[in-house]
Amino acid sequence: MQSPPLTLSTLASMEDYDPNSMPVEQARLLIKKFLSPVTDSETIKVEKSLNRTLAANLFSPMNVPPHDYSSMDGYAVRSADLGNSSVTLKQIGTSFAGNGFKGTVASGECVRIMTGATLPVGSDSVVMQEQVKVDGDKIKFSLPCKIGQNIRLTGEDIQKGAVVLAQGQRISSAEMGLLASLGFAEISVFRKLKIAIFSTGDELVQPGKALAGGQIYDSNRFTLIGLLTELGAEILDMGNIRDDKEAVRTALQKASSQADVIITSGGVSVGDADYIKELLDELGEVVFWKLAMKPGRPLAYGKVGHCHFFGLPGNPVAVMVTFLQFVRNALWELMGQHPKPVFSFQAICTTPIKKAAGRTEFQRGILTQEDDGVWRVQTTGEQGSGILSSMSRANCFIVLPMEQGNLEQGSVVQIQLF
Ligand code: AMP
Ligand code: MG
Repeated sequence: MQSPPLTLSTLASMEDYDPNSMPVEQARLLIKKFLSPVTDSETIKVEKSLNRTLAANLFSPMNVPPHDYSSMDGYAVRSADLGNSSVTLKQIGTSFAGNGFKGTVASGECVRIMTGATLPVGSDSVVMQEQVKVDGDKIKFSLPCKIGQNIRLTGEDIQKGAVVLAQGQRISSAEMGLLASLGFAEISVFRKLKIAIFSTGDELVQPGKALAGGQIYDSNRFTLIGLLTELGAEILDMGNIRDDKEAVRTALQKASSQADVIITSGGVSVGDADYIKELLDELGEVVFWKLAMKPGRPLAYGKVGHCHFFGLPGNPVAVMVTFLQFVRNALWELMGQHPKPVFSFQAICTTPIKKAAGRTEFQRGILTQEDDGVWRVQTTGEQGSGILSSMSRANCFIVLPMEQGNLEQGSVVQIQLF
């Protein structure tokens, strides 16, 4: 029997639910319970389909390859004609790709054939041109031939009627080519997710303007625009909102009336100007607040009406870490995709690591393969969650589990590639 769906209000009564120190894994599972994918779909051209999500199973309208063809430049033969001693066959024609030989190959005969050309009637195998001696139309073969060699058979790759791509498949360049190879010009995909973003903070200035004392540039919104563009979402960019309760309230209300998801940065700590939690309690609901992780301790997930809300921390590195560890998978799920498990493996760490037990840490690492073939990783150095250049220099996270304390140089660590 299925358990009843979780609601935000029943969460608080769960035994191991601690909104002040939520383990990373638990937070991932909890978010997942609230997500239901979009269902509306639209038909679009294949060349515009990158990063979109297939709305229905797609059946192959044809066999691939559609005919038996040669995978080599050589000679189409009847394999029974060839044996251990050398044999001379008469060349009776040529089969080109797109312009196959029309006749029939009889015993004692062969046809010159190019890669991609259909196999002439009567022949069953292809001998590479490097393995024969040519004297006018007399072709000398000196090796035995395995029936079917150097031939690609009809339907060998995809059979007519088979499911080629399943509903929920994310379209990458490989799928775009595959769709075209099957003759599809258009496909049905789920509609794009509409995502409203805004930064909060009185200290923030937009790039291109001059900074006054105490001000910094708003970088989080640009990081988010990049991350969301990569996912193929439609972005509703609401700019920067002042640390003013009414301004944040108005922004949240506007965003929730227009978008599927709201993503904000900053204002989720417990400072005097951090209004997000208060407003969410009022306008919607908050699921959790403080995570047992670094960077990214304050992270809010909740709902404002039908709209999913992710309140990311203000610190620039924490924005990227929380997005990549929680938000991205949730968005894929909402887009109707089936997120794959994170690709992760072990490497030897060449630097000692400072780590406090009791929280999962995502330190930034630089992974390299040495001449001995072994993958080694070093940290990017100082791991402050404001040091955004560390994300640019790094190519992976070094993921350090909850219980882990300090690590010595040479320890084996878990790596997540960017
Ligand atoms: P907060 O969570 O609002 O207290 O912000 C934490 C830190 O992140 C503060 O040092 C902020 O100045 C900084 N910060 C907040 N928002 C941004 C942003 N959009 N771009 C760059 N830094 C930010
Ligand atoms: Mg702030």
